Amino acid sequence: TPELSGHFGQIMKWSDEMRKLKVRTNADTPNDASVAVQFGAEGIGLCRTEHMFFDEHRLPSVRRMILAESSKELREKALAEILPMQKEDFIGIYKAMEGRPVTVRLLDPPLHEFLPKETKDIEALAADMGIAFEDMVTVIHGLEEFNPMLGHRGCRLAITYPEIAEMQTRAIMEAAIEVKEQDGFDVIPEIMIPLIGINEELTYLDKVVRNIAELVKKEKNSDIKYLVGTMMEIPRATLIADQIAETAEFFSFGTNDLTQMTYGFSRDDAGKFITDYKDKGILPNDPFQSIDVEGVGKLVEMGVMLGRKTKPDLKIGVCGEHGGDPKSITFFHNAGLSYVSCSPFRVPIARLAAAQAALNEAKK
Ligand code: PEP
Ligand code: MG
Repeated sequence: TPELSGHFGQIMKWSDEMRKLKVRTNADTPNDASVAVQFGAEGIGLCRTEHMFFDEHRLPSVRRMILAESSKELREKALAEILPMQKEDFIGIYKAMEGRPVTVRLLDPPLHEFLPKETKDIEALAADMGIAFEDMVTVIHGLEEFNPMLGHRGCRLAITYPEIAEMQTRAIMEAAIEVKEQDGFDVIPEIMIPLIGINEELTYLDKVVRNIAELVKKEKNSDIKYLVGTMMEIPRATLIADQIAETAEFFSFGTNDLTQMTYGFSRDDAGKFITDYKDKGILPNDPFQSIDVEGVGKLVEMGVMLGRKTKPDLKIGVCGEHGGDPKSITFFHNAGLSYVSCSPFRVPIARLAAAQAALNEAKK
């Protein structure tokens, strides 16, 4: 049951007494967030904001925002339409989490993912925006990429279009202030910037985010706290983690992208040959499911060591798929992470695995 009562509840209680790792959840909706809380989640480690952009009520504004290529004014108008909806998203999530920490990640995927593919949908959008169909097709093709996972996504989007990051930061902050004032929950939002690989990407965006966060605090006369941190999901970020930690107030390892980029395996297509690799003894496990201790794991250890060289108390989590895998959780415990974050239904397993890792360490 969601309450995890009876004998099972007792085992979970013992697990919680034993474990050192905190367990958070990956959740983008208030419903997922409250299910995870019932399963014992201690916060949200990753709130992906892209799914919210696909909502049918806001997709038209999202598309207008993307296609307003040459007009800042049109983009800002579309963003102003999205802002109140985005704010409502966060209000719902903060309320469900009742004051527990919430890490919200700024928009990550390439923008063409939000654009229509079918001719009839392109025609409808062109008519809606008063643009000729042929011109619309040209703009859409111009945004497509051959290798989108290595393309114009993550923090690169926020650098080209800071106004998207600004809108999201405003929504994150205004929602937190409102929930604090109206519901009494002391939310400390953690604003997370994806796909950092160059220190200057972070220092640039840290200023963009902080300027708006401070502006909102002033407008609302609020002294609310917030953190700005980064995903660690590009191998280069782990190699310069000491520089990154000078700005970042927390790290979260995105082991899905980190595995993809360390192996050079596409996370969307690798399934086609990983079974062969396992059958032929080339790989013992699917590295997207269970952390590759020898390779990707070393990058995690290096990121932790360098980050804490700069900030000894740096909060460090993991929010890739591996955050809910028991074998990987043992590795993250030993690497000294502060928390793991996994899907709501894996939270109880993660609590048990974290306790087992602590027990094994104590036995040694
Ligand atoms: C990751 O890369 O591990 C991650 C958590 O982000 P996403 O899966 O959304 O790319
Ligand atoms: Mg990622």
